[in-house]
Amino acid sequence: MEKSKIWLSSPHMGGNEQGYIKEAFDTNWVAPLGPNVNGFEQDLEKYLNADIHVSALSSGTAALHLSLVMLGVGAGDEVICQSMTFSASANPIAYQGATPVFVDSEPETWNICPVALEEAIKDRMEKGKKPKAIIAVHLYGMPFKADEITAIADKYEIPLVEDSAEALGSTYKGKKCGTFGEYGVLSFNGNKIITTSGGGALVTKSKEKKDKTVFLSTQARDNAPHYQHSEIGYNYRMSNICAGIGRGQMEVLDSHIEKRRAMNHFYRDLFKDTDAVTVLTEPNDDYFSNHWLTAVTIDPQKNGGKTREDLRLALETENIESRPLWKPMHMQPVFEKYPYYGGKVCEQLFENGLCLPSGSNLNDDERLRIKNAIARYL
Ligand SMILES: *Cc1c(COP(=O)(O)O)cnc(C)c1O
Repeated sequence: MEKSKIWLSSPHMGGNEQGYIKEAFDTNWVAPLGPNVNGFEQDLEKYLNADIHVSALSSGTAALHLSLVMLGVGAGDEVICQSMTFSASANPIAYQGATPVFVDSEPETWNICPVALEEAIKDRMEKGKKPKAIIAVHLYGMPFKADEITAIADKYEIPLVEDSAEALGSTYKGKKCGTFGEYGVLSFNGNKIITTSGGGALVTKSKEKKDKTVFLSTQARDNAPHYQHSEIGYNYRMSNICAGIGRGQMEVLDSHIEKRRAMNHFYRDLFKDTDAVTVLTEPNDDYFSNHWLTAVTIDPQKNGGKTREDLRLALETENIESRPLWKPMHMQPVFEKYPYYGGKVCEQLFENGLCLPSGSNLNDDERLRIKNAIARYL
């Protein structure tokens, strides 16, 4: 019999999700509004533990898009974006007809490099355009260098959009990721640390901004008995069914984080005797990562020539999923014509990096299979 598949990251229900959904059915709140939507937003506001306001939306991509709409990004504008990320960080720039300007990573957190960021801002300003926004990402749950990045955003008075899609529950100096930017973005897609089957949220700094986001996400209807519109709207609100899943998932978020962090320790232990493999971990105590995914880099020169692709294939043979890191946006056919600032840090990470199974629902048998497959590779 073929061994069951071990996924990189799969949905992990807590148990109470169906109760919230049943309540939605029983009360006929089967719509993109309702008590679960409000309840889920309140849960998130309480969890993020800061003076913020959350609007629940249909996806993280929708949240990113609305953040740019709220910031007035339009045709001809330039928006800076971390190059090493999922395409959803950058696509909304194109939706708005704006131009992405990509920036390299630094090797400690793999996120946007403060030096390259400032170089990009200065050069774009010299060329005649001040960037309209900066999109920085906490990849794999690892917080970006928040002090440096927010200081640069403040210095040049450019709003920061914080793509925290992978980092719910991560903190930097005790402050929750998602609350550093002018706007923060969360995702609850099926592979994220908690899921609503599909969904996202926008974190804003004021009740007014939240209300505006909700207005835009529900087709921008003016206050009138008929359908009256003075602005372009979107159908981006989260449904009450999905929000019910979210409420159940919030009950188990902290235990999911503990388990994902335990997976990170599991891999650190497996690789502790080989200096060819580096596991991404917090640079110091200022950082707390939810370790959504554990990722490693492999130096083939120290590894008898064996590459990360050899490890990926070795795992695949055992029906274990793994995946190369995000391919940088400036290397993507769809974005390669846009400006890029920095060196080769993210290119090298892509070349040598691999994400390993990290789900909160992996069991001892599965860990043993992973351990044995890696031992054979090493
Ligand atoms: C998942 C993800 C998104 C998009 O979220 P969706 O809810 O899938 O639209 C955006 N940015 C990053 C970095 C992500 O990992």
